[in-house]
Amino acid sequence: MSTPDFSQGAAYVRGRYVPIGEAAIPITDWGFLRSDAAYDVVTVWEGAFFRLDAHLERFMASCARFRLDPGRTAAQVTAVLEECVRLSGLRSAYVEMIATRGQPPWGSRDPRQAVNQFYAFAVPYVWIANEAQRERGLHLQVSAVPRIPSASVDARAKNYHWNDLTMGLLGALDAGADTVVLGDGAGHVVEGPGFNVFCVNAQGVLVTPAAGVLEGITRRTVLEIAQSLGLPVEVRALPAAELRGAREAFLSSSGGGVLPVTRVDGAPVGDGVVGPVTRRLADTYWAWHQDPRHSTPVRYG
Ligand code: PLP
Repeated sequence: MSTPDFSQGAAYVRGRYVPIGEAAIPITDWGFLRSDAAYDVVTVWEGAFFRLDAHLERFMASCARFRLDPGRTAAQVTAVLEECVRLSGLRSAYVEMIATRGQPPWGSRDPRQAVNQFYAFAVPYVWIANEAQRERGLHLQVSAVPRIPSASVDARAKNYHWNDLTMGLLGALDAGADTVVLGDGAGHVVEGPGFNVFCVNAQGVLVTPAAGVLEGITRRTVLEIAQSLGLPVEVRALPAAELRGAREAFLSSSGGGVLPVTRVDGAPVGDGVVGPVTRRLADTYWAWHQDPRHSTPVRYG
């Protein structure tokens, strides 16, 4: 037997580590059939997990909100994630942990009878904006598609209910924008496919939506950085009009940190170039990766 090639990534599927290209789940798992799953994504940068504890805590909380049991403690989840990274040898990675409903016994449609499953994988680091977009700033469209209300699917539990985000993204791409932010149906923006949104408004205050969003770990990091820099911050509903009239705007995501936005709905944000507050927050975000308070080195062995 040839040795498995984990160089493109490694996955943990029902007790086995397999190369990413061979990782598959049973077609009857409700994680697939019903998007009935909770997940989280932590990154590895230069050989260390960034804010691992925060991601584990949010994963466990997401599972609890959806009445899913990953069947593992945070320490056991960590061991699986680290093994996926170690096998792949990746120094910069996108590392996902997933709990699915699994499936109930044949004939039963009672989710309480389902045997929940745990999966994980590590693949090369994912950027939600390419290098050119990161340099010039993203062109963002405010979608007419409202985000699924949190009263229906709790946005604080990281989940795969993405049809609103995907349809919104398709509309934005068709219109020539780079990405999309969805609203709450009442004139405020909430979040986009894989990111939270911020602006530095006309008064110079950093604003990010309070509700109807995943409480991003990058969003939390940005808020902590802003506090440490003494920047004025408001976490509250963000009207689309305020975003359009802002001095600066950016996205926050584990897929690239602080990502500048220089156009909203085709019009320049402020003077249309990446702003100084955005740059400062982005630089500090990457500097914080060196801080032992936030980084957990991977034991590659
Ligand atoms: N909002 C949604 C819907 C997301 O999927 C994500 C991340 O994937 C975020 C926000 C940002 O969260 P984080 O900063 O933890 O990556």
